[in-house]
Amino acid sequence: MRILIAGAGVGGIVSALLLRQYGYDVQVFEQADGNSEIGAGVQLSPNAMRVLMQLGLYHDLAPLATEPHAATIRHHKTGAIYTRQVLRHLCRVNYKAPYFQFFRPDLMRVLLTAAHKAGVQINFGEKVSGYHQDAQAAYLQLQSTRAPAGDIIIAADGLHSPIRAQMLGDSPLRFGGAVAWRGVIEARLVKGQLPFEATLWAGKGKHFVAYYMQGAERYMQGAERINFVAVQRMQKMQKRRHHSDTNNYSANYSEGDNDELREAFAGWHSPVQNILAAAQHSTLWDLYDRPPSSTICDGRIALLGDAAHPTLPFAAQGAAMAIEDANVIAHTIKNHNRAQRAQGAQGKNYNAIALLTYQKIRKPRTAYITKTSRRALSLYHSAPPLKQAAFAYPALLRQQMKRIYGYDPLL
Ligand SMILES: Cc1cc2nc3c(=O)[nH]c(=O)nc-3n(C[C@H](O)[C@H](O)[C@H](O)COP(=O)(O)OP(=O)(O)OC[C@H]3O[C@@H](n4cnc5c(N)ncnc54)[C@H](O)[C@@H]3O)c2cc1C
Repeated sequence: MRILIAGAGVGGIVSALLLRQYGYDVQVFEQADGNSEIGAGVQLSPNAMRVLMQLGLYHDLAPLATEPHAATIRHHKTGAIYTRQVLRHLCRVNYKAPYFQFFRPDLMRVLLTAAHKAGVQINFGEKVSGYHQDAQAAYLQLQSTRAPAGDIIIAADGLHSPIRAQMLGDSPLRFGGAVAWRGVIEARLVKGQLPFEATLWAGKGKHFVAYYMQGAERYMQGAERINFVAVQRMQKMQKRRHHSDTNNYSANYSEGDNDELREAFAGWHSPVQNILAAAQHSTLWDLYDRPPSSTICDGRIALLGDAAHPTLPFAAQGAAMAIEDANVIAHTIKNHNRAQRAQGAQGKNYNAIALLTYQKIRKPRTAYITKTSRRALSLYHSAPPLKQAAFAYPALLRQQMKRIYGYDPLL
């Protein structure tokens, strides 16, 4: 079995690692020249961390991560707490894995190193443009003249996947009604002002998220950093000069205007203003998702991660969904491959059946996350009485956490 993967983002590399663990020959094709991960934070909840732990990566990841004690939602001006949920203890005890916050390039470095060690062949600087297939194999079309063949193709090529466009037609992304500024500051610049929690300040039509990252190692050196995301409702996406076309993110972010950003959050709780005052640089993102799609595979080819089901970032689950997808697709491929060996291959395309099984398992889960992320935006941006009422029931919040963090597709 040879499996070809388009895209060396989190979804592509975790798929490659799991498939190697099951003994398959895996080749990855990535358009960028190396690790092109953007310099921002990413939170990984226990549903994703359990998969990375299964890969034996806990000890490589833990020193690079921060693990917040709690998640807190506060009033945007006074900082008064709407709701506070213990996170560290809850996740470790109930969901058997940590809730970790990373600097994305750190996370990708660990994943890429593990992939190299495991013998995954990663071809950088190879832009995928499409695919074709016949009864024997699937072929990846590259911008160079090569067309490598495999038994299965996994398209983990992100939000603007050309494989998705070919498979499903070029339906436009759905603008999420909001933009996000992202930035990173040195934690020492706002020393003592941000509790050791994932904190979200919620105002009308805006919210602001901040958390520490690059945990233990940097903390010892006093060089920890804080990631922030400042979100503002917008009727239309912003027309701006976009970054050059070097990576996948090119079409939806641009250089942020820090004066505009500070102006948008003027008068907010002092830690928010101080974080923004310390920010030297930010990027501005148009946020998108897609209505859930009933199809994410075609014969021997399957979409995975943002290529399959991009979601708004308000439940912090996009990368987690890509990791869950990887876990499910690797398992279904392995199981169907075993069945094929046991029963003989006559007349049946076990690879295509494996991908249909993957599609069936992932559809309800990812549709739920897409919907929950949209709802979270409306809730954070609603007027205080509604927010107060919604957050007055911590049991509901815990129920939602259980549904998201406690999910195990393979049980
Ligand atoms: C503001 C913001 C905050 C977020 N925070 C979180 C969070 O805290 N937690 C979380 O779980 N998720 C978060 N997300 C979502 C997360 O970033 C994505 O869902 C995740 O990166 C998707 O992973 P992926 O592997 O599917 O795609 P990507 O990470 O986009 O990787 C795709 C890869 O494919 C490559 N590629 C693209 N086109 C081609 C081509 N034609 N040929 C070859 N290679 C190609 C790209 O260069 C890239 O390396 C956030 C998103 C945003 C916008």
